[in-house]
Formats: sequence, structure tokens, C-alpha cells
Amino acid sequence: MIKAVFPGSFDPIHNGHIDIANRASKLVDELVIAVYDKPLKNFLLSPEERISLVQSVFEENPRIKVTGYSGLTVNYCESIGAQVMFRGLRVFSDFEYEFRMALANHRLTPNVEVVALITSEEHTFLSSSTVREIASLGGDISTMVPPIVEKMLKKKLSSLGENNVIVPGQALRD
Ligand code: ADP
Repeated sequence: MIKAVFPGSFDPIHNGHIDIANRASKLVDELVIAVYDKPLKNFLLSPEERISLVQSVFEENPRIKVTGYSGLTVNYCESIGAQVMFRGLRVFSDFEYEFRMALANHRLTPNVEVVALITSEEHTFLSSSTVREIASLGGDISTMVPPIVEKMLKKKLSSLGENNVIVPGQALRD
């Protein structure tokens, strides 16, 4: 039986992540989507909110489980007996980062293979930070995330108010 982990921040989960998870789940017996519990980054959504959104998205897929975790990803993979870690690749800059991470992870735990799936064309530009920024500026994210994610983001952003520092405007504002 092949068990795999798809780790990430999922702040929030978007259609690019969902596509990778669905495709990865067809290649293995069980896929665990593992949501970073204790982020180093300044996240918009709490671990509970991020986990609960991912759970809602995949509640009808028996091959996918969702959980939070902290610490080294490879240690988490080993602790649940996963042999494979999936990552998604969009552009060359992703490749450089994922390549270095895969080599570091392999040094730590040669038993866990990193498998990178290439994004589907329509999701090439999608990232959680783009979704957060568009949502914070009142833009339409309905083609980028499922309705439940859109609803939660709107609620969260309105609770933070307009001058929140968690979603800095980077590029889409100009
Ligand atoms: P992390 O902080 O680990 O990068 P993310 O939630 O940003 O967490 O991403 C989790 C995984 O999903 C990463 O492997 C990332 O490259 C991949 N990913 C993010 N956006 C896309 C996308 N649009 N298409 C394919 N893969 C993606």
C-alpha cells in the first residue's frame, strides 16, 4: 500500500492545490493533506480555519485525509508511514525552491520520495498570496477558490478591517 503526504500552508486552499491533490490521490492508495500547524509565516487564517476548509473541500473523497502537523515534514511522513511526499510546480522559480527542499529532505530521510506534479495550465498563476491580495482589495476570487473558501475569506477580512497588516498589497494594487 502506498501512502503519500501533500504538505502545505493552504492559507487558503485554492483550485491549484485542489487539482494537485485530486491528481495525486489517483496515484496512491491514501493521500494525507497535511496542513502546517505552527507556521513560520504570518498567516491570515488560523491552523483550525485552514484545516477545516481543506476538510470541507475533500469531505466526499474517501482516498483523501486531512490533518494538521508541526515540525519537519519528513518526520511527519515517517511517523505515519508515508513513502511519498507530493509537491506542485508552477513556474521555474518554484522548481528552484522545490529542488533544494527535495534534496534537503532526501538527506534527512532517504526513505521518503518527493514527487512533483506540474500544475494544470489554468492554475499556473494561482497562489494563496494572490488570492489573499485580490480578496483583500474586493476583487472576484470565485474562479480561484471554492465558494466555502470565498465565504470564509470575506468574513475573515472584514473582521480584520481595511488596514490589516496581514495581507500587504504587493503588486495588484498599482
Ligand atoms: P508552502 O508554504 O509549502 O509552499 P502552499 O500552500 O503555498 O505551501 O503550497 C503547497 C504546495 O502546493 C506547494 O508544493 C506548492 O508549490 C503547490 N502549489 C501552490 N499553488 C499551486 C498551483 N497553482 N498549482 C500547482 N501547485 C501549486
